[in-house]
Amino acid sequence: MKIIDKIRRAEDDNRPFWSFEYFPPKTTAGVQNLFERMERMYNLGPEFVDITWNAGGTSSDLTSELVATAQSVYGLETCMHLTCTNMPKEKIDIALKAAKACGNQNILALRGDPPRGQTEWVSCDNGFLYASDLVAYIREQYGDYFSIGVAGYPEGHLDSTDKEEDFRWLKFKVDQGADFIVTQLFYDTTLFLDWVKECRVRGITVPILPGIMPIQSYGGFNRMTSLCKTFVPNAIRDALEPIKEDDQAVKDFGVKLAVQMCKDIRAGGVNGFHFYTLNLEKSTRLILEGLAFVAPRENIRSLPWNPSLSKKRE
Ligand code: FAD
Repeated sequence: MKIIDKIRRAEDDNRPFWSFEYFPPKTTAGVQNLFERMERMYNLGPEFVDITWNAGGTSSDLTSELVATAQSVYGLETCMHLTCTNMPKEKIDIALKAAKACGNQNILALRGDPPRGQTEWVSCDNGFLYASDLVAYIREQYGDYFSIGVAGYPEGHLDSTDKEEDFRWLKFKVDQGADFIVTQLFYDTTLFLDWVKECRVRGITVPILPGIMPIQSYGGFNRMTSLCKTFVPNAIRDALEPIKEDDQAVKDFGVKLAVQMCKDIRAGGVNGFHFYTLNLEKSTRLILEGLAFVAPRENIRSLPWNPSLSKKRE
């Protein structure tokens, strides 16, 4: 099923919904762990799950494999990320064909970052320059078969020096056929909600899902926010400073913060949340419990095995 139809259904019912993002692990054991985690997290009721694409293509086969397994074995509605980095049209065609062959109907179309060792992004021979080119190509080749998502940047894309230009190109991606937007991580909910309003003013009307990255460790949080140049409000820095050596306290704070962020975002009228799980289960589960979106763990465990899932596994 297409994600956009699932989102519209949730919106019509006026109920909150959520999705989980995973990345392809580097080892076989990691892949096995991820499958087990996905299977457990199925019971947390994500509307869909995303599998990222390694810009540069080093693990792109694995992405296709994970998408096929999540979609057709685990029965999870899956969204395959697809980037333009080092991807001539022939490779894009292979990836799209594989996605369709396993019943997948959802693509997050991205430009991608430069491969490791390169600072500037350049398109490859017979490749695309922008995500909007990829969106247009998918629509041209597959019509309405795929639901297509694109990335949005509440703090502006790093390459962009002009906020208006950023809005213009985001709208262009939608005009080319994208039907939903997932945002880059952020920690200032007012900034996010203001950005959504600005999108609406500029005629970007598709659903926008905030990307929520729970803080899992002090080092990881610093690395990620430095890499993405994410604005971190002083209140968050001040709260983290005295607990930065205590991993559990940092994780607990991360859960509390994400719960509060989701509550603020809901109060601002946005009902869908995309969690960057970092392939970890616990924080996302605790956040969903904290929001009362799912029952506490003991109750989840005692739920009967999901019939549609067990059917797929037979
Ligand atoms: P684009 O939309 O193409 O924009 C790139 C830049 O070009 C922007 O500054 C934009 O304003 C400008 N621009 C766009 N169109 C035009 C135009 N026609 N003319 C002039 N300028 C233009 N990376 C991965 O490698 N793998 C992933 O799986 C992945 N998943 C992601 C998921 C999300 C939700 C997000 C937010 C990012 C993800 N990324 C991923 C990172 C992403 O690839 C990078 O942020 C990349 O630098 C930009 O990708 P984009 O699709 O936003 O690019």
